[in-house]
Amino acid sequence: MDYSIARRLMVERQIVGRGIHDPLVVEAMKKVPRHRFVEEALWAQAYSDNPLPIGEKQTISQPYMVALMTQALELKGGEKILEIGTGSGYQAAILSQIVSRVYSVERISALARRARRVLDDIGCRNVNIKLSDGTIGWETEAPFDGIIVTAGSPKVPSHYLEQLTIGGRLIIPVGGRGCQVLKRIVRLGQVDYKEEDLLDCRFVPLIGKDGWSEGEGPL
Ligand code: SAM
Repeated sequence: MDYSIARRLMVERQIVGRGIHDPLVVEAMKKVPRHRFVEEALWAQAYSDNPLPIGEKQTISQPYMVALMTQALELKGGEKILEIGTGSGYQAAILSQIVSRVYSVERISALARRARRVLDDIGCRNVNIKLSDGTIGWETEAPFDGIIVTAGSPKVPSHYLEQLTIGGRLIIPVGGRGCQVLKRIVRLGQVDYKEEDLLDCRFVPLIGKDGWSEGEGPL
């Protein structure tokens, strides 16, 4: 089955049609085969306007949310980006089309392993995946031009703020059980940050030292 038509329609209707205008993001969404990041039984649904289950009670985010968060990073190409929550690897694959290097952290080993396999299969060679608690960032590789957090956090972990370059952008859903606000935080100086709210959203919980404890957090 050829999914290129479904992918083109997804980009036209759900991405460009809803106001995503960054050509780097649109091109990346046209290229990456989203169906490869879910189990084969779900391939036919891979280009629909929804998150989908990826096992371990986790999800691959809705395509529009992936595009919106990527656009919010304001990428020019060539950046070094940290992603927290590798999940299926799809967001990392989108970033990998645009930037020089993606560092992605996942806490569930089965997901990290599967994401690695799919990224290798489709030829994404500039993604490093680490199995760890991502709430502490990735100190040995910092600083990052952008950090994108794909799980809902009760607060902004301080490590992320410290691991941004000056001018770097942090995109993170922050809030309580069931719903969060997607925030963009720009590092303006050594201790100076600008914060803005982008939209309401609903992510699975960011679980770890500076996030939720296992068993609590958004539903
Ligand atoms: N970006 C993913 C994709 O493209 O498929 C979607 C991510 S899913 C909505 C959230 C992911 O964050 C889950 O895979 C979950 O295991 C992971 N996660 C939650 N807390 C984490 C933590 N402290 N460190 C790393 N990953 C975490």
